[in-house]
Amino acid sequence: MANIVWHTKFGIHLDLTLEDLGHPNLPNLWTTIYDTDRLYAARSIPVSERDLQCGGICQEAGVTAWMYLRLRANGRREAVHERAEDEERHAAPMTPEHQAYQERIVRAAVTGGFRADCEVRTRTGRRGWIQTDTLVQGESGLRIGWEVQLSTADTHGPRSVRSRAIKATKHGITPAWHTDRADYARRHDTQWTRSDKLPAHVIAKAGDLRVVSGFRVLDFWRCDVRALYRCPATQRRCGKVHVTPKPRDVLFDDLVRRTAAGLVVPIKHRDGASTHRFWVTRIDRDRLEDLNNDHTALPPLPDHEDGPAGCEPSPAHLSADHPRPAPSRTHPCRG
Ligand SMILES: [Zn+2]
Ligand SMILES: [Zn+2]
Repeated sequence: MANIVWHTKFGIHLDLTLEDLGHPNLPNLWTTIYDTDRLYAARSIPVSERDLQCGGICQEAGVTAWMYLRLRANGRREAVHERAEDEERHAAPMTPEHQAYQERIVRAAVTGGFRADCEVRTRTGRRGWIQTDTLVQGESGLRIGWEVQLSTADTHGPRSVRSRAIKATKHGITPAWHTDRADYARRHDTQWTRSDKLPAHVIAKAGDLRVVSGFRVLDFWRCDVRALYRCPATQRRCGKVHVTPKPRDVLFDDLVRRTAAGLVVPIKHRDGASTHRFWVTRIDRDRLEDLNNDHTALPPLPDHEDGPAGCEPSPAHLSADHPRPAPSRTHPCRG
């Protein structure tokens, strides 16, 4: 399957991950092309005469690969290559751990009520693309682009992460880079999250998968004699309000769902000369913005907490937030 289709008659690319296929000016476009494709199929018109080609990897490779459309019972729209050899062109070699992460992200997103797809290509203009490992469609058009970089990765290390992250952001995708390597997690070119190094069968399981760095809770405090921290700006007690980000473990599935819901957001935070990038709750981000506008007042506490309260897995937390998904025998990323 592929998510970019070239319509030979209309002369446009269709992005199946978007509700409007990337053409807000053409209402009911999906219905039109899907119904037409079904009609052609009912009349036994060959796929090669139905105007739809792979507009992604195959087109880039200079191959004319005909496609037909399929609508799954769950509402998922799919374009299928007519020939298996074209389909194979899309299957990049991937480690079992990497694939387990992709499938875990999809499962976590779907059980949270969000749609997710693997190896998604998003057009960024006439010729440009962004390839996303796993793209989660969140609340109100929010798109989270997960990139997994593991120690087992041997093909490509994380090069030009900063520019890839900026490009994704510019095109409406919030980049979420995840790793099991401490050296990647210490970089501040994007908001890296990290889990311990785990074998594929553990990553694939429904049990808790802990994120050990990359998420922080912001501690706001007044710089007076009762303060627990040293003043970051002066050698004395300056009387202003400061913020200290404190690392907090969260559960990976929680992170996938809360980022999709917009409840956990990426920020960058200046600490002296260095800029740190990590994830916080939306409430903490809003409070930080309040603080940046006025360093003399403690940002007001929210009425209710809507972020992950950190993830010391209390029984209540597990039952409320972690409905155990049914073990899946399918491989959503190798569909
Ligand atoms: Zn293709
Ligand atoms: Zn101070």
